[in-house]
Amino acid sequence: MIDTNDKTQVVVIGGGPAGATVSTLLAQQGVQVELFEREKFPRFHIGESLIPETYWVLKRLNMLDKLKDSPFIKKYSVQFVSDSGKQSAPFYFHDNKDHDCSQTWQVRRSEFDEMMLRNAEEHGVKTHEGVRVLDVLFEGDKAVGVQILDEAGNKREVRADVVVDASGQSSLLLNKLKLRVPDPTLNKGSIWTYYQGAQRAAGRDEGATTVLQVENKKGWFWYIPLHDDIVSIGVVGDFDYLFKGRGTHEEVFREELERCPGAKQRVENATQISKVFATKDFTYKAKQAAGDGWVLIGDALGFLDPLYSSGVLLALKSGELAADAIAEGLKKGDTSRAQLAGWEAEYLVGMERMRKLVCAYYDGFNFGKFVRRFPDHRGDITDLLIGDLFKESLDKVFESIETMKVESEAMAE
Ligand code: FAD
Repeated sequence: MIDTNDKTQVVVIGGGPAGATVSTLLAQQGVQVELFEREKFPRFHIGESLIPETYWVLKRLNMLDKLKDSPFIKKYSVQFVSDSGKQSAPFYFHDNKDHDCSQTWQVRRSEFDEMMLRNAEEHGVKTHEGVRVLDVLFEGDKAVGVQILDEAGNKREVRADVVVDASGQSSLLLNKLKLRVPDPTLNKGSIWTYYQGAQRAAGRDEGATTVLQVENKKGWFWYIPLHDDIVSIGVVGDFDYLFKGRGTHEEVFREELERCPGAKQRVENATQISKVFATKDFTYKAKQAAGDGWVLIGDALGFLDPLYSSGVLLALKSGELAADAIAEGLKKGDTSRAQLAGWEAEYLVGMERMRKLVCAYYDGFNFGKFVRRFPDHRGDITDLLIGDLFKESLDKVFESIETMKVESEAMAE
């Protein structure tokens, strides 16, 4: 039997970055939280490159000193290599803001997620690992708690004023309530592995994420330097292209590496230290982020193609916005959708800006050329890349991207 109350103020499903964030920020505001995580931490997870705007939420979580003391590699920039092998100048995040927040980290997620979960406990969150949430309980349209299954096979109900679904791509509530809106175009897949002793740049560029386009533009590689001299390297491409009618994941990975000389050369003298992993990364979002007594955050609310490493930022940001709405609602005695979804519209607009930048890349957008054509937008592009997504002024960038597309189509005719 696990040690949980039968009634609490907030139940959180999932102890990834989204769940740890919402629960820590609620506990800081005096709210009683029980978090259920089906795995025992540390557990493996993909998604290793942070972007700088995570800084502000990590600061509220009191995580900055822990990260500064960690072995995680510091990340100052992102760079792009085209299919012809041409490398853009790095986009240094400090171009825009010369501040602590212009640096971020490349993290091994098993370690980062465990740090976040233990930090939640230090702030008073009651966490239960190895406990799966089977279902969310409703009375009419209002969520009233969850049914859990502990490691010993015991089922039990835990009642709550608010249930937060942070179950990642398992998307418990999104599936139950049939809220999924699949993306019409971003249906990708990924195949990746880890190398030790691979090439890495020196100094400030050591921790740069490099995005390398595959020869036929049918995909791109991420190249993410981690600590212990390990590099995470993976290819992303259309799901059908990567997974239909081809060999094993290992074989497809090798074939794509052959098509990307920049990536191949970086790992040529290195040792592969893990199996090859594969996953689908279909972009989707929920029709709504909250209802009466329930809220969705992180990947449980929506998932965006991994191109610009925005997933953890979105998990942290939605966790923060949800925590503030829930804490305010509990104080007022109002846990209706109107109260809990106050942040939904602005958040989804910000996420859409990142989505548009992702789609532009797949449409042939070239950062170097764009900044040469529109030098005034350099700062805006850096803002988008660091994840400072929530300001209207950025919409002008997309008008200019469209202008440039029309110009190059006209030139090609
Ligand atoms: P998760 O981290 O998935 O956490 C959800 C937790 O819920 C899990 O621990 C799970 O065990 C638990 N859970 C699920 N169901 C239940 C249940 N029924 N009961 C109890 N617990 C449950 N993001 C980046 O920021 N940078 C990157 O470089 C990056 N690269 C990526 C590459 C790929 C190929 C993919 C697929 C994603 C990548 N992402 C990246 C995205 C990132 O992995 C996610 O956005 C992020 O992990 C979302 O955090 P989360 O807390 O919402 O979900």
